[in-house]
Amino acid sequence: MSAIDKPPAYPQQPAYTPQQPGYPPQQPGYPPQQGYSTTTTIVQQPTVVIAQSPFLENPVSTQCPMCKASIITGTHYVTGTLTWLACFGLCIVGCDLGCCFIPFCIDSLKDVIHTCPNCQAQVGVYRRM
Ligand SMILES: [Zn+2]
Repeated sequence: MSAIDKPPAYPQQPAYTPQQPGYPPQQPGYPPQQGYSTTTTIVQQPTVVIAQSPFLENPVSTQCPMCKASIITGTHYVTGTLTWLACFGLCIVGCDLGCCFIPFCIDSLKDVIHTCPNCQAQVGVYRRM
């Protein structure tokens, strides 16, 4: 392999003046990039939900991480993974369309959101899956 025998470079087109004479050249006066100040700000997102969640289906007595009040959480049910699985399960079994949506009406198939009654902050989640 010889990479030397390339075709001759195109001749510079004479009509084209790359550097306009009136224009000052790129000013070299620019200060060089001074040793890149790497301010790496690692934003640590506060994790409100504790790994081993004490939150179950029923309201729990805890301290609100937001308003620091001693509270008993309010609970409400939201559609969770298990709800959808039950829905799909019913579909696969061959229930008609109405039956598939029954899981969405059954609280015991849903996740439970615990909220602070003082500030309405979400303090925990009970996931069934
Ligand atoms: Zn609160």
